[in-house]
Amino acid sequence: MTELRDSRGRPAKPCEVCDGPTTSKYGVCRATAVCVREQGRRGRTAAGRPEVAREASRRWRLANPEKQRASSGRCKMIWEATPAGHIATLVRHARTRGRRERVPATLSRADLGTLPTVCPVLGVPIEYGASRSGAANPYGPSLDRIIPRLGYVPGNVRIVSVRANLLRNDGTAEELRLVAEDAERIRACRLRATGSDT
Ligand SMILES: [Zn+2]
Repeated sequence: MTELRDSRGRPAKPCEVCDGPTTSKYGVCRATAVCVREQGRRGRTAAGRPEVAREASRRWRLANPEKQRASSGRCKMIWEATPAGHIATLVRHARTRGRRERVPATLSRADLGTLPTVCPVLGVPIEYGASRSGAANPYGPSLDRIIPRLGYVPGNVRIVSVRANLLRNDGTAEELRLVAEDAERIRACRLRATGSDT
C-alpha cells in the first residue's frame, strides 16, 4: 500500500475526528459524515487556526472598508438609522429569513428600485431610517412578499409599512374583509348608542 501524501509530498496525518489518514489542510478527512461536516466548518471559520482567521478577516476589512464600517458597533447603528442603511438592513434580514424558511432569497437593494414614500396598503407616509430606541416604528418600511412561497426574489417583494404588514400578516383577503365589516358594524353600534364613534 502506498503511503498517503499531500500535494507537497508530506505524509498523511490522523484525522482529528475519526483517526483515519488524511492530507487535508483542515486536519480532518472526508470519510464519514461527521468528518465532512467538521471539514466544512473549519474551511469556513478556520476553527482551531486563529491566526488564519485573523489574517483573513484583516484582509476582508482592508478590501471592504464600507462594509466593515456598516458591520461594527456605533458606525453600524448610525448607518442603520439612515434611509439607505435601513433598507440595506431589511434586505439582509430578509435574505437570512428566506434561507431559514428554505425559500429563494436573492433580493438585493437595487431590485427594490425607487422606494415608495407612501404605504400602498394604508396610504400613510413611510418613515425611513430605523428608530434609535430600537423599537419598531409602525410607520417604518417593511418587505412584503407578494407570493410568500416564491421567497425574497426580484419582482416578488414590495415595501409596505410595518403596520400594514402586521395587520395583513397571514389573514386571507376574506378574513380581512370580515374583520373590516365587523369593525364597521361595531362602529355603527357605538354611534347609535352614544353618538360618538370613539
Ligand atoms: Zn475523519
